[in-house]
Amino acid sequence: MDFNLTKEQQMLQRSVQEYMRNKIVPIADAYDKKGPMSKTDAHRFLKDLIPFGYVGALVPEEMGGPGLTYMDSAIITLELRKAYASLGGIAGITSNAAVGIARSDNAMLKEKCLPGLLRADKIGCMAITEPDAGSDPSGMQTTAALDGDHYVLNGTKMWISNGSIADYVIVACVDESKDGGNRDRIFRILVEKEISPFKASEIPKMGVKSFPTSELVFSDCRVPKENVLRASGKNFDNIQKGLIVARCNAAVACVGIAEAALEAAVKHARSRTQFGKVIGKFQMIQQLIAEMAIEVEAAKLLTFKAFKMLDEGAFPRKESSIAKAYATEIGWKVASKAMQIHGAYGLSTEYPLERYFRDARCYTFPDGTTQIQHLIIGREILGLSAIR
Ligand SMILES: Cc1cc2nc3c(=O)[nH]c(=O)nc-3n(C[C@H](O)[C@H](O)[C@H](O)COP(=O)(O)OP(=O)(O)OC[C@H]3O[C@@H](n4cnc5c(N)ncnc54)[C@H](O)[C@@H]3O)c2cc1C
Repeated sequence: MDFNLTKEQQMLQRSVQEYMRNKIVPIADAYDKKGPMSKTDAHRFLKDLIPFGYVGALVPEEMGGPGLTYMDSAIITLELRKAYASLGGIAGITSNAAVGIARSDNAMLKEKCLPGLLRADKIGCMAITEPDAGSDPSGMQTTAALDGDHYVLNGTKMWISNGSIADYVIVACVDESKDGGNRDRIFRILVEKEISPFKASEIPKMGVKSFPTSELVFSDCRVPKENVLRASGKNFDNIQKGLIVARCNAAVACVGIAEAALEAAVKHARSRTQFGKVIGKFQMIQQLIAEMAIEVEAAKLLTFKAFKMLDEGAFPRKESSIAKAYATEIGWKVASKAMQIHGAYGLSTEYPLERYFRDARCYTFPDGTTQIQHLIIGREILGLSAIR
């Protein structure tokens, strides 16, 4: 498999790197300490990313989007997460919402919602997880009851990225008007906060602190039935397919964070002196650097392989889970090793190391935990499911 970037991709990478170095890296730490980003700041940051094709990268040009490839989007995501993982999360989630709308068969929603999302005037998110339905989303309890021209939504969604700043929430819910199991009754509907209000509150967490993570409560929330998002195939299967791309994005986020940690460790090992030598001359420090380099390189290759397969039209169920499981686990381990090389400075909130560690640690959970990725990989290899 050829991972050589094209000339255009190299140019894209250089321009994103330059922007991150000059505009984002210098402010990332201070912003992250402020906690969940305000809606006003999020709009401002997202608008600045538009020239790079970030918001809705995969939305086709004929729908007004940048029309980039999966690999292009991976290049931008890696650099953005490396500079400021929380901002990368906000941009990634609103982009996923735009792509979800673009790939549905709802022409009305495409016309109504895509322009605002692509201009970063609107922010989007996706709500699947619930207090009692995490690894097993088919156990969700949020219901949608048909009442005339509207669905009436009742239920609670948990851990929803961008939830408190989102204008559009793609909510997965159970159709009460249908018989059968949840897998046949789950569908997605777009809730526009302005016309269908719901309650959103922040869930404080240890990492990606300026990336809002929220509880959303829908209480007799009336949503026009024309807001239903459908695509070909079973709705529940489509939600699972969306998770394949989300897993690749979580993987590349951790490759970015791990690269940043490795670069910081190399810089420190070359300049810090103990026992009359720069610490980089000590074999045990070199061993740590070597381990980190191996882990980052392996994670990057696995992740790019999955993105490449997406560009080739494949459906990398196993490969996206391998990339996600490996990259998100090495992400926090590489950050931890970089902290070790920094000695006590690695713990200091004046340095970004502890932020890299906290941020990377958060990615072993969303879009399927590491254990769930292992079950998917096992199922794909064995043809036997541990779950059902
Ligand atoms: C930073 C962050 C952002 C998120 N963003 C979103 C979002 O935007 N939208 C959204 O819908 N959700 C989001 N989530 C929720 C995320 O998808 C869930 O946290 C995840 O699916 C796991 O569910 P849970 O936390 O309820 O854990 P549980 O499912 O309760 O799992 C608890 C533990 O049991 C293990 N476990 C569960 N089942 C099995 C099994 N069969 N075999 C072995 N072990 C098992 C898990 O691996 C885990 O270790 C986000 C979460 C985080 C942390």
